[in-house]
Amino acid sequence: MSDCLFCKIAAKEIPANIVHEDELCVAFDDINPQAPMHVLVIPKKHISRVSEIKQEDQELAGHLMMVGSSVAASRGFSESGFRIVANCNADAGQVVFHIHFHVLAGRQLGWPPG
Ligand code: AMP
Ligand code: ZN
Repeated sequence: MSDCLFCKIAAKEIPANIVHEDELCVAFDDINPQAPMHVLVIPKKHISRVSEIKQEDQELAGHLMMVGSSVAASRGFSESGFRIVANCNADAGQVVFHIHFHVLAGRQLGWPPG
């Protein structure tokens, strides 16, 4: 999608600190980290929000989760713990409408989230 910030990051038209890339997705450091590790995992395919995940995207959605987990493990947070979360629409505070999984780690994460 031409006017999408995260499509532009995936296409390398806007810089980001990319920590993982494969044929399906890109993971990069969040510009405004909320924890010592705060990575976003996005599909290269534009999907606007979690509620728009279709049947054909099931494998892709699982892949994003697996990549988030492996990025956390590569930073040494597999044992201590991490959180993967996706915000969908206004009440969850979604501001970028290209689906992304936040991967947060490196501090005690409060629950329930605000
Ligand atoms: P959300 O509220 O779930 O839509 O989260 C959007 C996230 O994107 C926020 O955590 C922002 O800090 C992050 N973000 C926005 N612009 C950029 C950017 N150019 N590079 C990296 N992260 C970004
Ligand atoms: Zn997009």
